[in-house]
Amino acid sequence: MICQVCGVEAPTRSIFLFQHVGLILIGLTGRINGQLCRRCINRYALRFSLITLFFGWWGWHSLFLTPIFLIINLIQFIRSRSLAPAPPNAQAPTLDEVTLKRLDRYRDEVVGQLASGQERASLAHNLAFQTGATPGQIYLYSLLVAPPAAKRRWTIAGWLRRAA
Ligand SMILES: [Zn+2]
Repeated sequence: MICQVCGVEAPTRSIFLFQHVGLILIGLTGRINGQLCRRCINRYALRFSLITLFFGWWGWHSLFLTPIFLIINLIQFIRSRSLAPAPPNAQAPTLDEVTLKRLDRYRDEVVGQLASGQERASLAHNLAFQTGATPGQIYLYSLLVAPPAAKRRWTIAGWLRRAA
């Protein structure tokens, strides 16, 4: 679909990778998760695992966390080997005027299918053939006409407002 890191239209996989840096008493853990293309998975799996391998061990609980994170990264990396690489000419999808006009004929179908619970990525794939647009373009278009519902965020300010 669309890689959430580089934006390229390519096969993606849902993945989470960790990096951990031990600082004697505390440890810093970073993570990346989302739909990533093969190239970005390779890049982040290598970078995160190397950082963890060299800087992860230096702390009390870091000593236990480091091998766990390394194993999680390794398993995810191995599982991502089945993912097809991005086509050589892959780029981020754009919506030109012609494509927009063409997709506008399918507007009701896009909105209707999403409202009935169809998953955005599979909707984009299903409509690609009949619309003549790429799945990435349809995905972008669907975000335009039917943006995802905002996630409820619990913030201290919001909590105070409700409590008042
Ligand atoms: Zn990518």
